[in-house]
Amino acid sequence: MAELRQLVVVLGDQLDLDASGFDGFDAAHDAVWMAEVAEESTHVWSSQPRTALFLSAMRHFALAMQGAGRPLHYSRLDAPGRAEGLGAQLQADVLRLRPKRMVMTAPGDWRVLAAIKAVAEATGVPLDIREDRHFFCTVREFAAHAKDRKSLRMEYFYREQRQRHGVLMQPEADGGGPVGGQWNFDADNREAFGAAGPGPVPPRARFEPDAITREVIELVQTRFASHPGCLDSFAWPVTRAQALQSLQSFIQERLPHFGQHQDAMWPGEPWLFHAHLSAALNLKLLNPREVVAAAKAAYRTGHAPLASVEGFVRQILGWREYVRGIYWTQMPQYLERNTLDAQEDLPPWYWTGATDMACLRDAIAQTLAHGYAHHIQRLMVTGLYALMLGVEPKQVHAWYLAVYVDAVEWVELPNTLGMSQYADGGVMGSKPYVATGKYIQRMSPYCKGCRYDPAQRSGDTACPFTTLYWDFLVRHEATLREERGPSDRRAKARGGRTRRSDPARRGRRGHGDGPARSGTPWLISSHPASSSASSPRWPPPARASPPCDRPPTPAPATRSTAR
Ligand SMILES: Cc1cc2nc3c(=O)[nH]c(=O)nc-3n(C[C@H](O)[C@H](O)[C@H](O)COP(=O)(O)OP(=O)(O)OC[C@H]3O[C@@H](n4cnc5c(N)ncnc54)[C@H](O)[C@@H]3O)c2cc1C
Ligand code: SF4
Repeated sequence: MAELRQLVVVLGDQLDLDASGFDGFDAAHDAVWMAEVAEESTHVWSSQPRTALFLSAMRHFALAMQGAGRPLHYSRLDAPGRAEGLGAQLQADVLRLRPKRMVMTAPGDWRVLAAIKAVAEATGVPLDIREDRHFFCTVREFAAHAKDRKSLRMEYFYREQRQRHGVLMQPEADGGGPVGGQWNFDADNREAFGAAGPGPVPPRARFEPDAITREVIELVQTRFASHPGCLDSFAWPVTRAQALQSLQSFIQERLPHFGQHQDAMWPGEPWLFHAHLSAALNLKLLNPREVVAAAKAAYRTGHAPLASVEGFVRQILGWREYVRGIYWTQMPQYLERNTLDAQEDLPPWYWTGATDMACLRDAIAQTLAHGYAHHIQRLMVTGLYALMLGVEPKQVHAWYLAVYVDAVEWVELPNTLGMSQYADGGVMGSKPYVATGKYIQRMSPYCKGCRYDPAQRSGDTACPFTTLYWDFLVRHEATLREERGPSDRRAKARGGRTRRSDPARRGRRGHGDGPARSGTPWLISSHPASSSASSPRWPPPARASPPCDRPPTPAPATRSTAR
């Protein structure tokens, strides 16, 4: 083989033929390197849907690259003699192929960047890391935005982005400013569904597994048989063409309803009016510019109202870019943050969904079945419970990174550790998001079918969310006093303070339990660890999430090694 000028390293979440790593690519002198490595599925207990999505999308991308005439060195997970880790496999291949240099688009994860830099150093092959132009905002631009700011609130960043990229802005000739006269329609986007429910929900865009995906599914089911989740209903887009179809179906069928019920939950309805585009975006099968352009066009043509379009644009141009900026300006120390000194283990039923708490059971069941839950389920059900229970943030992070198909560390970590667990002490949000079970009662009908009562904070039928809420306030009174009080998504926090007479507080004292996070013995009786035989009034079978037709897998060791 002729001398290899450059080896372009492409990671599993860089599936874009136009990525900066390919700039100046010359098929006569250059080659591409991709590898499936077990470590990416084992450094956290990666769910089967997540692993299958990555592997299938990578194999389809390899075909696209062949179609584009780019020579490719691709190693499959099932090939003999493979290294377990990305760095080790790359190093072996670099020593074999002897490129003059390595080139790549900047990786999304700090851990991966460190591994690839180590290979360059060990082999002495220069490494050219290029800007990831997938994003609207570079890390340098974010750092400039963040510099000298006391607080890094998303809203200010978002407004800057709108102005800089001219998104939903009035022409200067018409006075400038945001279209519709306000930046944010969030207040219009908090409605629950009425008693009748969401009504007809458009079916999600499904992509039946082709031969490549079926082969991957078999591989994952064999190689990662004990990993959580199941693949019975796997239907995620795995090619760019499918991702574009997904985008089109969202814009056509869901975007008009996107905003209004963004925070609402409904049993057995995992998809509702959400976009389901995060995985395709994070794998880089979709570009956020085309996604924002499609939403803007829907507003221009009158297909979708401004509140929905603005709400959606805020997620893509605002939140998604903002969390990436937070990640890269705060890492690697960010991973170690644990402001509330939370030390509990993640309850094992997070990996199975076997709990009596109806809201958690449904959110986890659909997560395991599809690798998906919408934002409020992640923030205000699974995240809220872990926060108020006082679970060690790294364990919560390892769970979120493992179970969702869209989970890539740059986006998962700030959302989990910062927004959801308040472990960063307020970098992402000014206060912890805490609420009693009444928030869930307001946003869903879960409580009607639950053996617990969200209005009760003590006793056998006390809702664990409600009990933990008051317990959380007691435990973190000092920290919260420094802030202006916890945010309560139910409406306004009830004063945000516990009173000496609160039963929860008396309960803790009564058991001589210190104000720290451990055990909370008086709570344990109301913390079901497993599903009981008590017949739930709900969900009715017809609406239940598709179950995995195999027994729940055992939980792994609770201490996380997530990095
Ligand atoms: C604890 C926790 C963990 C999360 N982990 C991830 C993760 O690993 N990967 C991930 O992509 N998102 C994550 N999110 C953000 C959000 O929940 C998902 O992006 C969203 O639910 C994906 O579903 P969707 O495509 O239907 O999104 P929609 O709600 O329809 O939103 C549209 C798009 O906006 C973007 N978006 C929305 N909210 C956020 C956000 N907070 N941060 C970044 N992008 C956002 C996504 O690309 C999404 O596809 C997490 C949120 C929480 C609270
Ligand atoms: S009562 Fe509590 S545990 Fe049960 S569904 Fe409502 S919020 Fe969830």
